[in-house]
Amino acid sequence: MRTMSLHAVYFSPLDCALRFWDGYELKQEGLKKNEAMEFSAEKYCFGYNDGEKMRPCPMRAGGAKQCPVCAARDIARMYTRLDYSGFESQYEKFRQQAFSVYLASFGHLVKCGVTRSARLMDRVREQGADYFVEIGKAADAETAYAIETLLQQNFALRNGLTSAQKMKLMNADSPARITECVSKVKESALIEDYEGEMQVKKLDYPVPQKFSEAIQLDGEILGCKGQILFFSKSGSDFGVNMSKKAGAFFTRAE
Ligand SMILES: [Zn+2]
Repeated sequence: MRTMSLHAVYFSPLDCALRFWDGYELKQEGLKKNEAMEFSAEKYCFGYNDGEKMRPCPMRAGGAKQCPVCAARDIARMYTRLDYSGFESQYEKFRQQAFSVYLASFGHLVKCGVTRSARLMDRVREQGADYFVEIGKAADAETAYAIETLLQQNFALRNGLTSAQKMKLMNADSPARITECVSKVKESALIEDYEGEMQVKKLDYPVPQKFSEAIQLDGEILGCKGQILFFSKSGSDFGVNMSKKAGAFFTRAE
């Protein structure tokens, strides 16, 4: 059996690149035209982002892509939950920016999220949304997250979807649901003073007409839709859920 020495951290959909540990060195490399990667089924903690850079796991923990020690040290919790204890100095700078509250649709499912306005387009694309709309805007993080909670509660909007759910919703896109949600929010006047652009926009991806789910990567890379990476092999197309590969060790053919 080959020894797997590369450790996957994150698949970056915007540039179709993989971030990984090569020993103690963090690398990010774009995928080649043809790739053969074999990932371990077991996962190991990939460490944490301390606000400046990725650090390896001090516990060398197995069993999950991130251990509780690293999750507690990761600045991600400041961005996703406004949980900023330990990051007070960074938080002050982070909170005072323009934020967008957006709806993003995946097939007939619609989620509501928050991001910095400057990142809106990248944020919805990296998630693989079919359609999106800036529904609200705010000049600080707390207001934006309050609007998000208000909309999620009043319009039964999701907080998120798993990549496995998104995999099932490929090639099933229609703007009907998200357009209906925008109308309802407008009619309610619930966030009247914080309305965003309110224009539903479409995103396109190189999704094959028909594909099978694969667990390893082996063939010609076609592109991705969020964390689902497509490749072609011997006339058939396949999709790999790359979010499931975070924390896995892997080999990569030259
Ligand atoms: Zn860890």
